[in-house]
Amino acid sequence: RWYEVYAFRMGTAGQRQVAILFKDITERKKTEHVKDDFISTASHELNTPLTGIKAYTQLLARELQKAGDKKNTTLAQKLNHHVNRMANLINNLLDTSKITKGALSFIKEHFDINDLVAERVNEFRLLNQYYQIVLDTTPVKPILADRQRIGQALGNLITNAIKYSPPTGKITVSTSDVDAKQLKISVEDHGVGVSVPAASLNKVFDRFFRVSSANMPTYPGMGLGLYITAQIIKYHGGTITVDNKPDSGGAVFSFTLPYE
Ligand code: ADP
Repeated sequence: RWYEVYAFRMGTAGQRQVAILFKDITERKKTEHVKDDFISTASHELNTPLTGIKAYTQLLARELQKAGDKKNTTLAQKLNHHVNRMANLINNLLDTSKITKGALSFIKEHFDINDLVAERVNEFRLLNQYYQIVLDTTPVKPILADRQRIGQALGNLITNAIKYSPPTGKITVSTSDVDAKQLKISVEDHGVGVSVPAASLNKVFDRFFRVSSANMPTYPGMGLGLYITAQIIKYHGGTITVDNKPDSGGAVFSFTLPYE
């Protein structure tokens, strides 16, 4: 069985007493396990056919292009785009179930974070030409980390900055040293900002957390991107923070990474 334990200090200075409360949370834990198992099975089962669909749509686009069929090439590329979006959603579910099982794996290597930042920013610039994505990097030492996972974390922050900003919004991605032991990467946007009271802003890093507010338009999503991002950063011994920019509007997400 599972219990949550609460301790309360009671009484006056001369007569200290402590009350301990045990709350049986077995049923809640069981429900969580059923949910976790479902997410794991569903994402694996959905991923298998999707891998096939992805390979064939790419092949189709290439073949149509080779045959000089412009109209259908455009259609196949659009199909490709949607298949990739779906693959991202399923990958987020797969990563989430790996995190819950403690099975997310990391391969560390030495690399220059500024190269990775430039690479990812260029990818996003190509696909989102109306957005002004600005780089503001300063030279930093190479870090020892999982390059692909850090790229994923950074990609999630840029994806959100784009998603929660108007199409002409300026997004700044910057790097700098915090001190001799760690560096910092920030993604700043001029979008809607995170509509959560300052004291509970960190909730955005919880699993499945989404902001729901009457005066916010509905954006698509599952509330997993920031959870996965925070877990990746935590694994590397870094910290992640979020702030709203009261003057200019928008949000700024920053994470630190230790050098060793
Ligand atoms: P999703 O975008 O799929 O809902 P995330 O985990 O990436 O999930 O983000 C959680 C929530 O945090 C979002 O629903 C959104 O309300 C808020 N959020 C994240 N990034 C930003 C941002 N750059 N600006 C404003 N709100 C954001």
